[in-house]
Amino acid sequence: MQYRRLGGSGLKLSALSLGSWLTAGVRLGRGGMRELVALAWDHGINFFDSAENYAHGEAERVLGDVLTDLRLPRDGFCVSSKVLFGSVPDPRPTQAGLSRKHVRDACHDALRRLRVDYLDLFFCHRPDPETPVAETVRAMDDLVRQGKVLYWGTSEWPASLIREAFEIARAHHLAPPTTEQPQYNLLHRERVELEYAALYAECGLGATVWSPLAYGLLSGKYDDGVPEGSRLSQPGVPGRLDRPGGQARLERARRFSAAAAELGVAPAPLAIAWCLSNPHVSSVILGASQPAQLLENLGALELADRFDDTVWRRLECVVDQGRGS
Ligand code: NDP
Repeated sequence: MQYRRLGGSGLKLSALSLGSWLTAGVRLGRGGMRELVALAWDHGINFFDSAENYAHGEAERVLGDVLTDLRLPRDGFCVSSKVLFGSVPDPRPTQAGLSRKHVRDACHDALRRLRVDYLDLFFCHRPDPETPVAETVRAMDDLVRQGKVLYWGTSEWPASLIREAFEIARAHHLAPPTTEQPQYNLLHRERVELEYAALYAECGLGATVWSPLAYGLLSGKYDDGVPEGSRLSQPGVPGRLDRPGGQARLERARRFSAAAAELGVAPAPLAIAWCLSNPHVSSVILGASQPAQLLENLGALELADRFDDTVWRRLECVVDQGRGS
């Protein structure tokens, strides 16, 4: 495994990490998730990502039980949660958002479900237009000072809002956001590569990126139709191919699969290796519903060493063909 610093902080995360969205508590119960987490740990993965709303809190419960059951040393792994959407299906006004109250309550609930006494990372899952940024920064700083959160961050915040949070923290000697959690894959690059470009050096921002396979599309398994039981066959999930733009995304994914075949490698680890080629990426959060997928995806580390910028730029050209970029 390779380890990377989380932005300007001293925290070293595994370059590949494991997420729990739509897997823990949905596709996988405690037994299945235990197998996945054990495999990840054995391969050096030290960061496990979750959120209050994943399966309405059940993802955190499953992950917490598994981490405890496996007796992983608390100082050897990092675990995250995210706050905003709430953990109950129809949240009351104080059960969601980024108010001081919900940030505090969500942290305490995550600690209980994950069975830990501090969160390594705690993310604001999206911006909350109805809470002043200063209130959220202060709420996060309180949790940091209380030792309940070590590093806090944002997820899918516009660069201007991240900068605002950073400047409030700097002006008032509060803990600043240390990391973003944005979507990043060959089909979705702009925010990480352009919008946040100045923040990495100026604010020491780290990036733990999500959906490296564009919800599974870049694994190549959708090239000839939607397999039964796969993520994108489930009703209502993001990234479904019958949504607007779905067919164009599929065409781009097919061109990527053809390029992977020319290189003689499987598409999934190649797509993940491409994410690793960006030095601003601190950790690529993998999703896997089976151990075999995780094993295949771990092959990204070797491909990231084997290929160079010529290959990465060529892959970008291949998927962008016909898009005028
Ligand atoms: P991916 O884009 O990598 O999709 C993962 C899914 O693709 C798997 O669950 C599996 O789905 C399929 N898959 C994975 N590997 C393979 C393979 N080798 N061959 C075939 N199919 C494969 O990542 P996710 O969308 O799952 O995101 C990863 C993590 O990022 C999440 O678990 C979560 O922790 C985080 N995240 C954060 C968000 C945020 O807003 N901050 C938003 C979304 C995710 P299946 O087998 O079911 O078809």
